[in-house]
Amino acid sequence: MGNESVSYKCPNCRGPLAYTPGQGDEITCEYCETKFSVADLDKLFATEREMAAKTEEAKEQKWEAEKAGGSWDPEEAAILRAMTCSSCGAELICDENTMATQCCYCGNATMVPGRFSGSLKPDYVIPFEKTKEDAVKAMDEFCKGKFLLPKDFTASSRVEKIQGMYVPFWLFDADVEGRAQYSATNSRVWDDGDNTITETDHFRCTRGGTMSFYRVPVDGSEDMDNTFMQSIEPYDYSKMVPFTTTYLAGYVADKYDVDAQAAIPDADNRIRQTTADVLYNSVNGFDTVSQEDCAVAKESSSVAYAMAPVWIVSNKYKGEVYTFMMNGQTGKFVGSLPVDYGKGKRYSALAALISLPVTYYIGKFIASLFA
Ligand SMILES: [Zn+2]
Ligand SMILES: [Zn+2]
Repeated sequence: MGNESVSYKCPNCRGPLAYTPGQGDEITCEYCETKFSVADLDKLFATEREMAAKTEEAKEQKWEAEKAGGSWDPEEAAILRAMTCSSCGAELICDENTMATQCCYCGNATMVPGRFSGSLKPDYVIPFEKTKEDAVKAMDEFCKGKFLLPKDFTASSRVEKIQGMYVPFWLFDADVEGRAQYSATNSRVWDDGDNTITETDHFRCTRGGTMSFYRVPVDGSEDMDNTFMQSIEPYDYSKMVPFTTTYLAGYVADKYDVDAQAAIPDADNRIRQTTADVLYNSVNGFDTVSQEDCAVAKESSSVAYAMAPVWIVSNKYKGEVYTFMMNGQTGKFVGSLPVDYGKGKRYSALAALISLPVTYYIGKFIASLFA
């Protein structure tokens, strides 16, 4: 029975209600003493029960994660190579002609070649549209005018280290049904000469609808910093094409370490949150709105495995790793820059030097006034 999962709340004060569907004629709320007809409550709570049952059902209904990705043909597997970073353990895949000279993640220069095995073949790939030259230019722009950047940290000195990499992604499609309840208020305040009167109207709002989610991405790489990845999104998925090994020529691919199954909670969260936001934003015309509950149930779903293009450069600079990334399709660029602390100190020392004589001068001037 779905009934147990619904805790009935008084429609007036939201206090717990001693209510059993279809029994008796009338119920009085113990908290606010409002009387309700059971027939009205039955009608009111029917949707809640239906939604609770659907949410229960949705928990059972799993994503078909095992359908994401395919297996490599023997000819494809034969030309693929694996490399493991001796420092951070990241595993990269490339074709026989492409060798990464350094780790895309930690900047370490020792990549250990290994046997390629056990990875799924991507369903789709988003091809690179931006060239290495574009990436160098973007990095130059990014470094320009950064006063505290060390002199030896310039884009041109890093060119040979800029590597095109495919980042593994799981893409989730789903049709969902969402239903939510809100309590809302509108207040009026006026003065009748003696008293200030506040009149508050309370509303109970229900919103529901179906929504289709298309290509909700979840990063398949633990090595890849999620904030970085999310800040170079979005990708234009309309340009996504079926994957072939040809797309690997000259690039490396990160081997996923978060499998489709493990990516599900992130996808579910993103979908649930977006649905809740859309429903909430449709409750307009009130002074206050607060969500009482929200249920989201999946109706149909599918998962695919895709590769997204990124230009990446990671550098170890005085023990710290600095990463720059560019969306290989749109050119959106993000990065962290090393700060030359020597320069920083000189700068603040200079500021202190400038302010000192002024204080001294004013001090002397005031002293002379009183002399
Ligand atoms: Zn009540
Ligand atoms: Zn590494």
